[in-house]
Amino acid sequence: MTPTRLGDLRISGERLWASLCETAQFGAIPGTDRGMCRITLSDEDIAVRRWFVAACEAVGMSVTTDQIGTIYARRPGSDADLAPIAIGSHLDTQPTGGRFDGILGVLAGLELVRTLHDAGITTRHPIEVINWTNEEGARFAPAMVASGVFAGEFTLDHALAQTDRDGVTLGEALARSGFAGDELPGGHRLAAHFELHIEQGPVLEAEGLEIGVVSGVQGIRWYDVTVRGQTCHAGTTPMHLRRDALHAAARLALAVDAIGRSDPGASLSTIGLFQAYPGSRNTAPGEVRLTVDLRHPQVPGLDTMEAALRRAIEALQAELRVAITLTPVWSSPPVEFDPDVLSAIAAATRRLGYSHRTMQSGAGHDSVYTARVAPTGMIFVPCEQGISHNIAENITPAQAEQGANVLLQAVLDYDRGANA
Ligand SMILES: [Zn+2]
Repeated sequence: MTPTRLGDLRISGERLWASLCETAQFGAIPGTDRGMCRITLSDEDIAVRRWFVAACEAVGMSVTTDQIGTIYARRPGSDADLAPIAIGSHLDTQPTGGRFDGILGVLAGLELVRTLHDAGITTRHPIEVINWTNEEGARFAPAMVASGVFAGEFTLDHALAQTDRDGVTLGEALARSGFAGDELPGGHRLAAHFELHIEQGPVLEAEGLEIGVVSGVQGIRWYDVTVRGQTCHAGTTPMHLRRDALHAAARLALAVDAIGRSDPGASLSTIGLFQAYPGSRNTAPGEVRLTVDLRHPQVPGLDTMEAALRRAIEALQAELRVAITLTPVWSSPPVEFDPDVLSAIAAATRRLGYSHRTMQSGAGHDSVYTARVAPTGMIFVPCEQGISHNIAENITPAQAEQGANVLLQAVLDYDRGANA
């Protein structure tokens, strides 16, 4: 088969949609249009795993699982020395989730292999479709735990010891499921990792675009802030003698908002929690506790935002005679995806004629961890009103088809062009 004809190859949108609808029976929430509850290693998750294994074996793939239950379905390539090009995401859902988050990425991988199978095409690299265990983190914390173990972020023992709310460990749930395999997570190399996913945000839909070429995942820093002033009587304390913690916190809230607007398109800032004490109508608050969430695609950007936050705090302390403590509680560094994988995705998108933009992911994905051990990139398709982790989550058959076609063409490009 010539490269030109490979470039003409398309997945079957109808077959992909049928798989999405068929697997939605495993965990469909009764009385909802599209709601799904398929918690990691529940009976429903076990059922969809069995369906997935059978579907992969039906097109000649060999299926293995590792010691944390991640499923690897492999189609051989023509060059036995090459590591597989992986297409991975997750089949588990939130307790009140939808039928596309993660699922689209796995089933599009299956559809890609079915397409190659029907056309009689052998790639140079093996193709491996991966269902990562417990991406959602809804039953066992943390999220993305299996890809995290694969990449060396968590140890296997640590992950298997995590318990659900009934005290069942991930290891016990895995043993019950029959999906505990022999391979050590991370025990084999990946030539690349591609992940197709719904955007889970409103940007593509708002801009009327069909595809997001995801260049990375933004960094996140969380802080707890306490503002301490002096509680005082609302009727007897002149304004100029007050040390009103709420006044200072309100000024800080404006500063935090300005920090989020300082680098348009990149910086984001949020105060998600804001509580004044003691909480009485005729008492000026002596203490306010609030949270700050800063996000930016680059470390220097995060540093600049944090420095601005610290300056604002110092200025308010001096001006308003309050004491403000800033405590960092969590930090997740930004991830930049691989330029070769991204250029394969962008080239495929252009050839297919789909409108697109480059964008960052605001949410975490298994690709965050695979990026540490393999060249990685992601493709987004829009979802209705940006809604996800919700029974209203929805996409159109055309959106699923377009995303899977980009995946197919990008993987074929990467197979021919890179990492020989
Ligand atoms: Zn997901």
